Amino acid sequence: MVASKIQHIDQWFDGPTESPLLIAGPCSVESPEQILATAQALKAHAPISLLRGGVWKPRTKPGSFEGVGLESMQWLIDAGRAIGTPTTTEVANTEHVEAALKAGIDVLWIGARTTVNPFYVQEIAEALNGVKIPVLVKNPIHAEIGLWAGAIERFKKVGIERVAAVHRGFFSSAKGVYRNEPHWHHSFGLRALMPDVKIIVDPSHIAGKRLLVPEVCQVAMDLGMDGLMVESHITPDIALSDAAQQMNPDKLGEVIKNLVIHPKKLDQGASEALKSLRDSLDELDDNLVEIMRQRFALAKEIAIIKEQEGTSIFQMERWLKLVKERTEKGDGEGLTPEFMHDLFATIHKYSVEYQTRLTKKES
Ligand code: PEP
Ligand code: MN
Repeated sequence: MVASKIQHIDQWFDGPTESPLLIAGPCSVESPEQILATAQALKAHAPISLLRGGVWKPRTKPGSFEGVGLESMQWLIDAGRAIGTPTTTEVANTEHVEAALKAGIDVLWIGARTTVNPFYVQEIAEALNGVKIPVLVKNPIHAEIGLWAGAIERFKKVGIERVAAVHRGFFSSAKGVYRNEPHWHHSFGLRALMPDVKIIVDPSHIAGKRLLVPEVCQVAMDLGMDGLMVESHITPDIALSDAAQQMNPDKLGEVIKNLVIHPKKLDQGASEALKSLRDSLDELDDNLVEIMRQRFALAKEIAIIKEQEGTSIFQMERWLKLVKERTEKGDGEGLTPEFMHDLFATIHKYSVEYQTRLTKKES
């Protein structure tokens, strides 16, 4: 039953996502024994589509374990063959690409620290010109979806047809519960820009702690994401990199077994009650648009008066008062202070921009 939840890589890339892709394996390939034991335990407990393992590890601080290097690529491939599963590793330069292709790695991934730099991405893309290998592109460390989309485009441009995105969260200076903030709206943004690109979520690098990984896996499924890349190690506590976030293969098996996977098609399996509530929401949204139209019409009249009276378009006191008063109108439930603040700050920002455009034109 569990096996039917997870899809084969070829079907997954080429058709609609019937069920998610599951990539699992250790953060780093550490020894032939470690990768083989992990692979065998994964096969026993979780129906994985791809075996992952880092051969070269880009680390923030020098002196941290930077991967065994080239030698460990063969250990990864052998472990994949032993369980009949294709393999994937991270490449960060031409040399890595050539070595991975020569060794017979099935899928390449581009790490978050590489996606940030178009020079690196272009170099890797050129090394793959004319090669038919799937590429997974992790989001850049900082929340810049232009770089993410740009990197995907560079691979498509050299003829790589099978390119997927990996959402691994974003660096944040504000320390929250997660190692990397998910900022899910960036995945929605990428989906809007590139509707055909599938998105895999990496709950391990988002969560940073193994205890939080299962809930992020479920959120990914609830948001309609297309797959998961989870770090799994036979003895996670003594892993040489990312020990805190890796989980045992048997634990991962449990997580996958308990995962609730929703039908992908809009309204497939939706009850009449749900459809009718959605119709009501659509109607309310139409009303909101009409109210905004009226609000902008008023802003236009105000802009004309401001100009006649020589008043500046943006007035700090007015802004502070408006945002404060509207924020206080929240109900503390759905209308949280954050939501009310962001909503009215946004409305006011665009209203001021509109007035500025109007007065510039007329002057
Ligand atoms: C990894 O997958 O082990 C890794 C280094 O990821 P990221 O590039 O997302 O930090
Ligand atoms: Mn890692």
